[in-house]
Amino acid sequence: MSTTQSPQKYEFQAEIKQVLDIVIHSLYTEKEIFVRELVSNASDALEKLRHLQLTEKSIYDDKLDLEINITTDDKAKTVTIQDFGVGMTRDELVENLGTVAHSGSKAFLKALSESGQKNANLIGQFGVGFYSAFMVAKSVKVYTHSWKNDQPGQIWTSDGSGSYEIEEADGQRRGAKIVIELKDECAEFSQDWRIKETLERYSAFVSFPINLNGKRINTVQALWLRNKNEIKDEEYTEFYKFQAHAGDEPRYRLHFSADAPLSINALLFVPKENPEKFGFARSEPSVSLYCRKVMIDAKPKDLLPEWLRFLKGVVDSEDLPLNISRESMQDKALLDKLGKVITKRFLKFLEEEAKSRTDGYNEFFSEFGIYLKEGAAIDFGHKDQITKLLRYESSLTEKGKTTSLADYVSRMQSEQKEIYYLIGSNRAAIESGPYLEGLKARNFEVLFCYESVDEYVMNNVREFDGKKLVAADHADVKLPDVPQSKEGALGEAETKSLLDWLKQTLGDRVAEVKASERLVDSPAVALNADKFMSPHMRRMMKAINKEGSETPLRVNLEINPRHAVIKRLAAAQTSAPDKAALVAEQILDNALIAAGLLEDPTKMVARIYKLLESV
Ligand code: ADP
Ligand code: MG
Repeated sequence: MSTTQSPQKYEFQAEIKQVLDIVIHSLYTEKEIFVRELVSNASDALEKLRHLQLTEKSIYDDKLDLEINITTDDKAKTVTIQDFGVGMTRDELVENLGTVAHSGSKAFLKALSESGQKNANLIGQFGVGFYSAFMVAKSVKVYTHSWKNDQPGQIWTSDGSGSYEIEEADGQRRGAKIVIELKDECAEFSQDWRIKETLERYSAFVSFPINLNGKRINTVQALWLRNKNEIKDEEYTEFYKFQAHAGDEPRYRLHFSADAPLSINALLFVPKENPEKFGFARSEPSVSLYCRKVMIDAKPKDLLPEWLRFLKGVVDSEDLPLNISRESMQDKALLDKLGKVITKRFLKFLEEEAKSRTDGYNEFFSEFGIYLKEGAAIDFGHKDQITKLLRYESSLTEKGKTTSLADYVSRMQSEQKEIYYLIGSNRAAIESGPYLEGLKARNFEVLFCYESVDEYVMNNVREFDGKKLVAADHADVKLPDVPQSKEGALGEAETKSLLDWLKQTLGDRVAEVKASERLVDSPAVALNADKFMSPHMRRMMKAINKEGSETPLRVNLEINPRHAVIKRLAAAQTSAPDKAALVAEQILDNALIAAGLLEDPTKMVARIYKLLESV
């Protein structure tokens, strides 16, 4: 190759000098991103050429394949990235590599001045395009020939220190060949394996072939950009395993694209099993963010809401800059918008699955429902949509079968105003408790909640379809009257006197004593009178020895004036007051046991012996 003119020296624009200064002096650890940046430039240049081939009659070196060739030389400590794309003329070299006009460096500088810090991490987020090469380079040479036939080849050279040179050179292939002479401490990038690893990480889906030292690197296609009617199930599964580093087969997949309000191509997967199930660590968000097949962020934190952290896959949007930043408000708003569109679409997908493939959905829910519950409780923007997707067993379902809240509402009695639920460790515990019977007697359905988050979820969701969600074991629950046979029940005056006596006898152990309309088969029930702490919460706090479990219990005791035990008590109250007092205490303890609230059983044992003595 011969040069026809002597090299000409140029100064970088002041802003570029600033960028270079930061890049060169940064101790940024992920220096490998320069590979991503240069490959994405190469891919852009090839894309532009492909376009020109459709419209231009004459293109320089037109026989060349549209590919990217990378070579490493660990003796010379160089790495070379060559593409057969559009290349650059002398003017374009000056314009594109010497000024800030086109480059992503503009946004970098803006963020830098906004954040007011010389933050090396910004390099990672922005990439800083072409200049990132200077993180690892002693010198960079760009050998290039434009696609235009009448333009000579050029060599651009710089050590990044303020100026660069351009000289004309014959014998160049079309496109750009970037030769990086590595700094000694960055010599690792002249090793085949190091570049390979980096390409696999960032550039696995670039659509032009990438060859490293003669070997093809990117063999997996960017499936998300293909037409879904042409993709086989096995291809999806293979992609999932590759992209999510997964060993299982996906349970669900959702492949969609949208043009408005943003251009989106997304391919999402739900794994077979919940990875957090066995107490494993909390998953990281793992839907990766791409811009035209080049990865921007493998684990973007601000894309999807937290509760969707079980999703895998890829979101690609042309509307995102490759150098998107979490710091820039504009970019954050863009990510937010993107996240909202994807979340809405995924929720709609689940709704369709629940409707048309119910068994599969129920299986999904038993594995991943916990995430939906988290979403219903804290993702205010999607609460209604998520609540529709929740499933619970109920007093009307069989064991192991569930209902949606919508179906519950459709079965509600005309006089029923609220949605009732009970919390307990399992079905048997709830069914044998005293709280269900009054609701059952009125034909009111009750949702059964077995998970420790359920109480939190119910308290946060608060209502569904305009109906309040109400814990059926709370003292405030007002049930409409059911006609109960008054026959054989205590009369009004007897009941009143028994209630007064009970309050006096039990003292501070109860807040209130009332006659109950809700009881059918039980003599008495203890109802939580504490607005701020449910019995369930109290048990949990006790279990973890948390503050608050020591505050005195506040319960209301409700008695059943139709029950034989209560009738006997009313009689004994006058005939054998001492024994009656023991029985009253025991009735309260029994009610507390049923509610899971008895804290110290030792007194009870002594009392029972006393009662047994009198038999
Ligand atoms: P960006 O890619 O965001 O525009 P870069 O700093 O990566 O910013 O690149 C600056 C410009 O240099 C590009 O816009 C492009 O015009 C030009 N360029 C970089 N690499 C190549 C290449 N391999 N072939 C042709 N043009 C290139
Ligand atoms: Mg670029």
